[in-house]
Amino acid sequence: MSDKKRNIEAFYSGIVSQDVPVRILTHLTVAGRLPGTFLFSGPGGVGKLATAIAFAKSLHCSKGGKPDCDCPECSAIRSGTHPDVIVSSKDRHFGVDEMRELVALAGLRSGSGHERVIILDRAELITQAASNAALKALEEPGDHVRFILITDTPASLLSTIRSRAYALKFSLVGDDELARFAEMTGDDPESAETRNAIRIAGGRPGRYFRLKHMKEYVEVTSEIEGWLSESFGRNGTASVEIALKWKDAFWQFADRLSSAERDAAVPRGYNAYEIGDFIKNPDIYGTGPINWQVEERKKKTGRYWTQGRQALLLAGTMSQLLASQSVERNARPISRIHDFIEKVKFNCSFDISVERLYFHLAKAL
Ligand SMILES: [Zn+2]
Repeated sequence: MSDKKRNIEAFYSGIVSQDVPVRILTHLTVAGRLPGTFLFSGPGGVGKLATAIAFAKSLHCSKGGKPDCDCPECSAIRSGTHPDVIVSSKDRHFGVDEMRELVALAGLRSGSGHERVIILDRAELITQAASNAALKALEEPGDHVRFILITDTPASLLSTIRSRAYALKFSLVGDDELARFAEMTGDDPESAETRNAIRIAGGRPGRYFRLKHMKEYVEVTSEIEGWLSESFGRNGTASVEIALKWKDAFWQFADRLSSAERDAAVPRGYNAYEIGDFIKNPDIYGTGPINWQVEERKKKTGRYWTQGRQALLLAGTMSQLLASQSVERNARPISRIHDFIEKVKFNCSFDISVERLYFHLAKAL
């Protein structure tokens, strides 16, 4: 392996188990054949944003070869203050005005002579008008700018956007790799808390970290686990009654779980070593790499996520808890919940999907 290649690969060493996208990114970077626009897709919490940040560092770093490099460029990218690395992670729709502003920024040459990297996390929230406003920029950004679009639900992007991007797929992480990730963040991979968090993290390092370190998140998850045990345990026979209780509990838990996500002041986009730094010193490393339109999010109170996204978060947590050992297994409700997750992902009518879920659960119990 050439030195250059080894050097580039090292930027990704704080990300576990995404060998295919990392290999392709390294190869394209070393070969100098980077496409103008990437699309990173795959489940939430597996390291898509962290990989995009590592990519930006690999283009800008002035030292080279460390996932937690402290050179001025990498430090600025990590704290969201680098002028040529723009990272957006919005919680609601990304509109046409914001997109025009971004496209105008993309057209400016960077003062440093380096490539500008524009990362749009949660690209499924880009509105149709905004997508259309970006088509030309995404198709031919020029050799001084790279776009990275990131999404958990690629099917919800316009096909005209998808067809303009070089797609890289990310996948869930195995439990052994999750244990390695835990160790890299400074956690003891053999401790009972670590093992328990791995068990219910569902192959997502991002969720593992919250389960291990965020109190409210841990509490809600363990209550959901109790609720599922009660509902799906051997004694779960009063079907209509339970289905009605489910309906109330469902929204309460969905709300609390997404609030816990919001309040977990964990910077998104950190790799394992940077998370380790954050755990040791949250005051210094609490800012994170997201730097575009964040004020708006800080100001925003009230409901933080769309109902669909809240439900997806809860349904994903439920299916993971059901699949783990602690809850009495019952194949039918589990398959119904999976069915529900698929429907919500593909934007089927949300209310109908929920009603269907209650109906099937009531029958299954
Ligand atoms: Zn560096």
